[in-house]
Amino acid sequence: MTVALVPAAGRGERLGSAGPKAMVSLHGLPLVAHAVRGLLDAGCVRHVVVAAPSDHLAEMTAALSSFEPVTVVPGGADRTASVRLALLAALDHVPDAKIVLVHDAARAFTPPALVRSVTEAVAAGAPAVVPVLPVADTVKRVDADGVVVDTPSRADLRAVQTPQGFAIDVLRRAYEAADVATDDAGLVERIGVPVHTVPGDVAAMKITTPFDLAVAEAVFAR
Ligand code: C5P
Repeated sequence: MTVALVPAAGRGERLGSAGPKAMVSLHGLPLVAHAVRGLLDAGCVRHVVVAAPSDHLAEMTAALSSFEPVTVVPGGADRTASVRLALLAALDHVPDAKIVLVHDAARAFTPPALVRSVTEAVAAGAPAVVPVLPVADTVKRVDADGVVVDTPSRADLRAVQTPQGFAIDVLRRAYEAADVATDDAGLVERIGVPVHTVPGDVAAMKITTPFDLAVAEAVFAR
């Protein structure tokens, strides 16, 4: 049985929106509603827990009222805290869940097929699975002054998307030991559990900037 956690409690400063990023409207629906719909449309997710900004709880609950089963809980001060709170709620609602997905609200167009492929890889025995894409740009490491330190081989690099999938006990252990990471697999790596990859999808792009939102609107219009 699979549950999904959607951290959606960020402020979205890079998007420059007045309210939370997850509530920014894309083709008439908030980003978080698109993300939740994609998870439920996959057909393999039993329950979705959304971590909302505590001062926008009622608004986000109302925006998701047509989807079920969905629980909205108050998020925390950073993404890690929000996921931890959502994980506790998920364990409460679905105590026999075996697989957990963590999915950014900002990845509004994630295809249900990608949700299934991550879930199936965990069900087949991988303790942790992330969808990845090859990196198109050359990536450099820089120091505090912005001077290049080195250039990792692009062939070895991947851009990581969500949903990220885990055996639920693995994610629980990672969060018990957790400090802060920008993705959940990063915490799992730190407890020494191997993280596997499946091919990602360009449609699972993260909407971070006003440019990304304009691209997403254009894609949706097609
Ligand atoms: O800032 P970033 O784009 O990496 O945030 C990724 C996700 O984490 C977003 O969906 C955001 O809403 C969420 N988040 C959260 N709680 C916070 C900060 C971010 O749920 N306190």
